[in-house]
Amino acid sequence: MTFPIDHDLHCHTYLSSCSGDPAQSVEAILAHAKKYGYTMQCVTDHLWDSAVPGASAWYAPQDVAHVSQNLPLPEDGQVRLVFGCETEFLGGAHLGLDASHYDDFDFIVIPPNHFHMKNFVRPESYDTEEKIAGLFVERLEDISKLDLPWHKVGIAHMVCGLIFKEGDPNRVYELVDEARFRAVMSRFAALGAGIEINLSSFWPDWRPNARAMLRLYRLAKEEGCKFYLASDAHHPRELDLVPGLAPVVVEALGLTADDKFILA
Ligand SMILES: [Zn+2]
Ligand SMILES: [Zn+2]
Repeated sequence: MTFPIDHDLHCHTYLSSCSGDPAQSVEAILAHAKKYGYTMQCVTDHLWDSAVPGASAWYAPQDVAHVSQNLPLPEDGQVRLVFGCETEFLGGAHLGLDASHYDDFDFIVIPPNHFHMKNFVRPESYDTEEKIAGLFVERLEDISKLDLPWHKVGIAHMVCGLIFKEGDPNRVYELVDEARFRAVMSRFAALGAGIEINLSSFWPDWRPNARAMLRLYRLAKEEGCKFYLASDAHHPRELDLVPGLAPVVVEALGLTADDKFILA
């Protein structure tokens, strides 16, 4: 059976500062999910928990109380609308969500590569493709050592232009050490985390870079990882990225229903 295009587990509402779009409401997101026959839709606004010291000025207002303004989520007979968040990770054990709030979320998305946030997520001294590739794997390794409710954790955008905006992201993906990457993906597979296929990373034209972009996903698949789809939409039109691009990416990766991450 082919991999079902029936879910979107990472998107933002107007509550995320980088959206702020009044049209990006949970009602609009749910209506889109219904239109495309989804069974599950998750909203994951950016989050830094005020219980964790060290928020950046941008993150500070986006705490648990802020993102919880979307609650209660509307209920629907077809689409299970679930409450998640996209928190932040700074390396070591420095996660932007405190363990006391894990239960507040049905799904926790952790980005390993928001490296556009210089001197917050990425030390400025990491300034070449080689160094960035090393830092990326190190962050994945650090995340895999955290004590998390892994059955409801997703590893966001494996490939993502934000990883090195001043340089060549595709070169970064190519430079990722295969043995270390395989080892950490094998660990995520054993822990039961989901690996995100973020369609906004594949927009508009990923074909020229397909080899570099798909490489990491192929390695993750070989190590037994499970995958979920994500629009990472900040505006209503971007929700179309899942129905628009997921079929070709899923086909290129040869994913089947067995490869789908199931959020219980
Ligand atoms: Zn992100
Ligand atoms: Zn996001």
